[in-house]
Amino acid sequence: MAELRLTGRPASPGLALSRLFVLADASRAAASRPAEDPEREAERLRKAIADAIAELERVASQADEDARDILEFQVAMLGDEALSEAAFAVISDGGDAAGAWQAALDTQVDEYANAEDEYFRARSADLADLRDRVLRILSGATQQSIPAGTVLVALDLPPSRFLGIDWKAGAAIALAGGSPTSHVALLARARGVPMVVGLGADVMRVPSGQEAMIDGERGTLVVAPGEATRAAAQVREAEIRKRQAIADTFQRGKAKLPNGEAVMVMINAAGPDELSLLDPAICDGIGLVRSEFLFSGATLPDEETQYRAYVRILEWAGGRPVTIRTLDAGGDKPVKGLTLDDEGNPFLGTRGIRLSLLKPDVFRVQLRALCRAAVRGNLKIMLPMVATPRDLAQGRAHLAAVIADLAARKMPYAEPPLGIMVEVPAAAIAIDRFDADFYSIGSNDLTQYVMAAARDIAALSDYADAADPAVLSLIARTVEHGKHTGREVSLCGDAASDPAIVPHLLDAGLRSLSVSASSVGLVKAAIAGALVG
Ligand code: PEP
Ligand code: MG
Repeated sequence: MAELRLTGRPASPGLALSRLFVLADASRAAASRPAEDPEREAERLRKAIADAIAELERVASQADEDARDILEFQVAMLGDEALSEAAFAVISDGGDAAGAWQAALDTQVDEYANAEDEYFRARSADLADLRDRVLRILSGATQQSIPAGTVLVALDLPPSRFLGIDWKAGAAIALAGGSPTSHVALLARARGVPMVVGLGADVMRVPSGQEAMIDGERGTLVVAPGEATRAAAQVREAEIRKRQAIADTFQRGKAKLPNGEAVMVMINAAGPDELSLLDPAICDGIGLVRSEFLFSGATLPDEETQYRAYVRILEWAGGRPVTIRTLDAGGDKPVKGLTLDDEGNPFLGTRGIRLSLLKPDVFRVQLRALCRAAVRGNLKIMLPMVATPRDLAQGRAHLAAVIADLAARKMPYAEPPLGIMVEVPAAAIAIDRFDADFYSIGSNDLTQYVMAAARDIAALSDYADAADPAVLSLIARTVEHGKHTGREVSLCGDAASDPAIVPHLLDAGLRSLSVSASSVGLVKAAIAGALVG
C-alpha cells in the first residue's frame, strides 16, 4: 500500500508507530426481533440497563480515581430515567426493547454530536457508549477484544473501552470522529497515550494490520509510512522527548522569569470531572472555570446541582483561588431553550452577560449557588462579554440582590470579588471605565473581535493571532490599568498555553496566566526561558 496521510485534530500529544486495529462500529449490534408483550419488553430493557450499570460499577471499582469519576458519571447518566423515557414510550406503543433503546439513544447521540459547542459534542461519546453497552447486553453478544500495543482506529471510543485496554504496551488512538475535550481524550492525555480525533470516515476503510504512524501533536495519521516519513519521525520523536523532559522538570515548581520574578500559572477547567485527573500542586489556582459544563442537559441545572459542582471544584483547589465565570452561552455555545436562535451573527449577539441580563431568573440561580459555595473556598466570580460599564453595574446589582436575599434568609454565604473578562475591544480600549475587582483577558474572543475573523472559521486561522501588535497593545493597556489601580490582571485565553506566544504576553507586562492543564510544564519552562534554542 502507498503511504496515506490523514489529518485530524490533536487530542493527546506523542508519537507512535505500530499496527492498526480497526474497531467495528458496535452501534449496529442490536438484533431486531419481533416485539413480545410490552410489559416483557420493558422488563428486558430494565434488566439490560441494570446489568450495564453493574458492569460499569465493576470496572469503576477496579479503576484509578480519575477513571472512577468518569465511570460514575456514566452510571449516573444511565440511572437517570430521563435517558430511557423515550425508549419506554416506544415499547408501550408496541416496540421491542433493542429497537426502542437504539432509536431513542440514536436521537440523543445525534443531538449531542451535532451540538455547536465542543463540550456537548464531547459528551456524545459517553451516550454512545451507554447505548452500545445496553444493546450488546440485549443481544447477548460478547465484546470485541482489542489487542494491546496497536494504533486503535474507531469511529469514537467510549471511556470504558479505553480503560479496558493495557496501555502499558504503548501505541495510540485514531478516531474518525471524537473531540479533544471528550472524557477519553482527558484519559489519553493523563496516561500519555497519543491520540488524534476527527480524521473522517475514510480512516475506517484502512485495513487492520497495516503499519501506521500517529503524531498526536500535529494531529496526523500516516498509514504505510515510507522511509523519508520514518526518518523525519525519528528526528521529531527526539525533539518531543527533549521538550517533554524539560517541561516535566518545571511542572511542579513555581513559575519564575529568568531574573527570578514570580509569575502565577493557573489552569482553566471545564468542570470538576477533569480536575480529578490532576494534582492541584501543579498550579496556583484555577483562573477560569467555564460554567457552561453545567448547562449541557435537557433541563437547566438547579441551584443545588450548581452548588455541589462549585463546591467540588473549590475542594479540589484546597484554598487556592478559583475564578468561576458565569454562564457564557451564545456565540458558538448555544444552550437549548435559553439562547436566541434567530440571530444572524451570534458572536455579535446576545451572549455571555447580555443573555444573563435578559434571563435574570437563570442568572440569579447561578449567583446564589456561587455565593453559597463561596464559604467553602477562595472563590471569585467573573462576568463574560462585558462591553459597557452598564453590563458590570447591572451584574453587580443582581449579585447585591442575591446576597441581600441570602442574608435575609440567614443562609451561609460569602460575597466573592466580582471581575470581568476583557474580551470585547470596547472594554480593553476604555478599561478605566470598568470598576471591576479584577480583570481576566479572554484572548480568544479579543483576537477574533480585533481581527474581525470568527474564531470558528478554520480558513481564517492565520488571523487568529493573539501576538498581533493590535491585540498585544490592548493586552498591555489592560495590564497597565491593573498596575495603576492595584487590581489583578490575568489572561485565560488559549494564547497563554502556547509557549511561542508566552514571551509576548510577558513582554506586555502580564504576570498571571491561566492555561490548559496539559500545558502547565511547557508554559512554566517558556516563562523560565528554558525552551529557547
Ligand atoms: C476567551 O475568549 O479567550 C475565553 C477564555 O473564553 P472562551 O474561549 O470560553 O470564549
Ligand atoms: Mg470568550
